[in-house]
Amino acid sequence: MLEQLKCLVQYQILEDKKAKLVRSSEETPRRIAEIEKEFKDFESIYLGKKAEHEHAKSSHHSLEKEISELEDKIKRSKVRMSEIKNNKEYQAVLKEIGDQQKEISEKEDSALVLMESIDHLGRELKALAKEVKQRKEKMEQDKQELQREADKLRERLDRLENLQEKVRARLEPDLWKRSEVLLQKQAGVAVAPVEGGICQVCHLNIPPQKFIELQRDESLMQCPHCHRFIYWPGHEAYCVFEEGWEEL
Ligand SMILES: [Zn+2]
Repeated sequence: MLEQLKCLVQYQILEDKKAKLVRSSEETPRRIAEIEKEFKDFESIYLGKKAEHEHAKSSHHSLEKEISELEDKIKRSKVRMSEIKNNKEYQAVLKEIGDQQKEISEKEDSALVLMESIDHLGRELKALAKEVKQRKEKMEQDKQELQREADKLRERLDRLENLQEKVRARLEPDLWKRSEVLLQKQAGVAVAPVEGGICQVCHLNIPPQKFIELQRDESLMQCPHCHRFIYWPGHEAYCVFEEGWEEL
């Protein structure tokens, strides 16, 4: 077993775990935005109904005002009638009162319809307001839960980074430099297992002689295609630290 290669493999495993955690943590803001939107959509239904309710109430108020104005007009006309001597003029005022009474009656019908709709909307609003409150509480809980998960991920990421730093300190500086370049250039993967003569990262064949050499585990080798450091997982030493060694 090559100690330096083992360190590289350990470093890579930590790197992979970190990448996975970073991907999971990137989900959090998206999930939060999703549940916020879901709530806003529901709330906008409530707000729409509320506006409808307000509008109906103000229309009803206007109608009542108009009715009361018409009633005043009728009262004034009746006073005027007692003073009229001319029959034609009397008939005209009488017709005017008749028209106004008709108008009042129409407005009263509309006011009644509006009142029913106000009552109905009021009941709907009450139920909706209750649900908005429940949904808001649920949203806050879900957001807190997501945030707690994100914090846990962050802590785990910090632990992995600390551990990675310890592994890195054991690497020879020159080897670390070469690995660092590979990590940057090769999508965050500097070390690749070779199984059945095939590099498991770039999926190309290693020449048979090289594969035999790799299995002998005598020198640090690189994939001739992707140039990543390679190891043979048949050597248990390179594979034992999948889980449980993180608390080193
Ligand atoms: Zn390769």
